[in-house]
Amino acid sequence: MKLSPCVTLRNPRVPRGNDLYNKPMIHEILPVGPLQCNCSIIGDETTHEAMVIDPGDEIEDILGIIRKHNLQVKQIVITHAHIDHVGGAMKLRAATGAPILLNQNDYALLKMLDVQATWIGVPPPEKVEIDRSVSTGELVTAGSLTAQILHTPGHTEGSICLYFPAEKKLIAGDTLFAGSIGRTDLPGGNMQKILRSLHDTVLTLPDETVVVPGHGELTTIGEERETNPFLVKR
Ligand SMILES: [Zn+2]
Repeated sequence: MKLSPCVTLRNPRVPRGNDLYNKPMIHEILPVGPLQCNCSIIGDETTHEAMVIDPGDEIEDILGIIRKHNLQVKQIVITHAHIDHVGGAMKLRAATGAPILLNQNDYALLKMLDVQATWIGVPPPEKVEIDRSVSTGELVTAGSLTAQILHTPGHTEGSICLYFPAEKKLIAGDTLFAGSIGRTDLPGGNMQKILRSLHDTVLTLPDETVVVPGHGELTTIGEERETNPFLVKR
């Protein structure tokens, strides 16, 4: 079953309407592939420069959104090297000419895409070439939009989140979900590390930060701080 192209909010306590989609920023969320990875297409409404985060699959649909908003993709950012997040990156790079960014600690995992393909029963994708490694302290920009890279190891060694301070929005990859956190039982996963990343990095963000997880519904930092069973202090 194909879910609605836009992830909807389940919880009425998170921000509504324009608070969620800060006006000057184009942000479409398209769940792609059999595991419905949330692909974010984020664009500057004035310059139409854009970045695409986690183009796991369904590149034709992603390109349709890019055309609809007349966007020029400047960056392809991968939150971590799991096949459902990176599977369509080369196709998108070929179509847009934009570089692919991934933290170097996930390069080993990237070499295992054929193994990963067997985990979820999909054909192995073509080899993915990374143009640049990104880590904490670096900025990724598109037009006037700026994302701070946060290296948040735990789900994988090279997992990153993207924080847009002006829009108070976090693209969390598979580090944080609404009511849950990323699994750590796959190769490269580490429960202590993901908890450290969440407490020392992710939970330092403002409560009103809207979180776009790698799968499922949107949430906020405040909501997860208060109710996420993996994060609440006992
Ligand atoms: Zn993952």
